[in-house]
Amino acid sequence: MKLKDIGEFGFIDKIKNGCLIRTDGVVQAIGDDAAAFVSAEGKLTLVTTDLLVERVHFLRDATTGFNLGYKALAVNLSDIAAMGGTAREAFISIAVPADCDLAFLEDLYQGMRHLATQYDVNLLGGDTTSSKIDLVINVAVVGSVSAHRMLTRQAARPGDRIYSTGYLGDSRAGLHLILSGIAPETRDHKALFETHILPYPYLTEGQFLAAQTGLHAAIDVSDGLSSDLGHILSASKVGARLWCERIPVSLPLQRFCSQFAFDAVDYALAGGEDYTLVVTIASDQALAVQKSYEKHFGKPLFELGEITDTCRLELVDSAGSVRPAVAKGWNHFK
Ligand code: ADP
Ligand code: MG
Repeated sequence: MKLKDIGEFGFIDKIKNGCLIRTDGVVQAIGDDAAAFVSAEGKLTLVTTDLLVERVHFLRDATTGFNLGYKALAVNLSDIAAMGGTAREAFISIAVPADCDLAFLEDLYQGMRHLATQYDVNLLGGDTTSSKIDLVINVAVVGSVSAHRMLTRQAARPGDRIYSTGYLGDSRAGLHLILSGIAPETRDHKALFETHILPYPYLTEGQFLAAQTGLHAAIDVSDGLSSDLGHILSASKVGARLWCERIPVSLPLQRFCSQFAFDAVDYALAGGEDYTLVVTIASDQALAVQKSYEKHFGKPLFELGEITDTCRLELVDSAGSVRPAVAKGWNHFK
């Protein structure tokens, strides 16, 4: 069945079930000219939006609707996480080509509902139009954060320690497998593939970190560590040194890199779409924050370097020699 068989309004009727996940604060959900909800009192409202375009961000034949819907929401939740916030309402606009199956779109909403339920986020509205060739999905998420807890890119200070909430480079390895047409059959390949397909939004971790004293800057790694840390450096007018040996590279990625003769550190530095949070913490608080994070979540907060006053991004190898790092990562217009 295609969208033309039920029309725009038939489609909206079909997908709206199960979109209201949390009722508190919601005055009008899907079904009127606009959504209405109460903003969190005394807090800042966060708004973020991400656009996914077929053939630029995904290949329709290479993904399921579920995975695509999940990812479209996850990348937005990740942006709210990087501000230290709570996600509340999501808005989904889609432009649908005539050859797109209704089942694919229903599956797409299943993927979004699945993740939205985990984080208590409503799917509260959107727009539906036709498209000539490509499927286009835009998700916008509204969230909130206390003004004094908001994490930004511009708050890093020389001496801060730099941490990542997760391994880096796995997602890019998963993408490599997809683009090379390698079906993920081994445990390692499956793990890398999964990280790329179903990115984990570090929302709970972001809120926890934002509540700690000594937390300075934060960003989510969407384009690659060197590129995204570079945004913190330019916004904060500082530099950084990363210790190559301590850049968190997972065992599956280490084995993948030996298999394909890639340098694991380069891979982790340039690999996009990991969606881990990279944060900087005042040096005198850093160890305490790391310890309480690890106790709370039962997983590591990886320390990988420090902020300097040089305005350069540098890499320190195991022998202690320092070399400049070039910001390599995804850039749409280059
Ligand atoms: P209008 O024509 O007044 O803009 P629409 O017919 O586009 O209204 O939308 C009707 C309702 O359905 C609104 O609540 C809108 O937010 C919601 N909606 C439309 N398309 C989508 C979609 N793809 N996903 C979620 N909600 C949608
Ligand atoms: Mg409309």
